[in-house]
Amino acid sequence: MAASRQRAPRRAGAKLSSERVDGSKGGGEEALHAIFQSACRGGKGRQGPGDDCARIVPPRGRALLWTTDQVALGVHARRDATPEQLAVKLLRRSLSDLAAAGAKPWAASWTIAAPRRTPFAVLERLAHAFLAEARDFDLPVVGGDASCAGALVLSCSLLGLEARGGTPGRAGARAGDLLCVTGRLGGAVSSGRHLRPEPRLAEGRRLAERYDAHAMMDLSDGLAKDLPRLLARSGVGAALDLDALPRALELPAGARGLASAVGEGEDYELLVALAPKQAERALRDSVLKQCGFTVIGSVRARRGLRCRLDGKPAAMPVGGWEHAWGAKRR
Ligand SMILES: [Mg+2]
Repeated sequence: MAASRQRAPRRAGAKLSSERVDGSKGGGEEALHAIFQSACRGGKGRQGPGDDCARIVPPRGRALLWTTDQVALGVHARRDATPEQLAVKLLRRSLSDLAAAGAKPWAASWTIAAPRRTPFAVLERLAHAFLAEARDFDLPVVGGDASCAGALVLSCSLLGLEARGGTPGRAGARAGDLLCVTGRLGGAVSSGRHLRPEPRLAEGRRLAERYDAHAMMDLSDGLAKDLPRLLARSGVGAALDLDALPRALELPAGARGLASAVGEGEDYELLVALAPKQAERALRDSVLKQCGFTVIGSVRARRGLRCRLDGKPAAMPVGGWEHAWGAKRR
């Protein structure tokens, strides 16, 4: 990772060692824990870190949503990404999963796995950046862990409070629903926006609580990959109008721009199925209008995805992002 070029991390107040993460010295982990402990403000019903477990007491009658996500250097970000970019992306992409559930962020825990050669200053920067970002979202970090490992991998678990009226999930889309997306799609990786995605928390809660979203998910692997996942979970099909997709403004017109909008991935926008009357209301919602809210198709009882482009039947141009194992190194 590059060790320069970024703003100075906000300090959490702990006095820190400058020694490296080195098993023979053994001091790095404690110094990291000190950062976590000094930064935790907890909050009603949330205690930690510093004990073996965090203690969580959810408000009476509210379900908790729980999601886990990770950022692996060289997979989710280029190898020259800064520690701050990695930590910020980790938290924000995890928050996007809560947004997709319509949930309110409530508590976080996270882990750092890093090679032994990693300078301790890099781990400090990861910790400070993650904690500062969590603070900006008013999210207590109640626990964490650090370990030496073969590669730099960050992980994060978030708890969220369920939206009033419940969690839409991916399985509730019904024939006749309209499919809508927030924001614009495509260009997130090539532009670098994927390093600081905007979790659509307010929009997700609104869609769950005010517009009775039948199904909702965030688009992380590209519409071409994620829409079929939602349809399969719901046991339905869809008609998709590729001409209606709200493409990122910098994308070229034509096939290349379309391929980016459906297949580049890392958009972290919401895909939602709404009853037509609710969609009509949602299209007039000022908060949704501000980030952009567009009808892109409709749900059909018959399985399969039918696309139209230039007013004619068309195939989905690309397949979206997929993790693959067992491939030979090139
Ligand atoms: Mg997701």
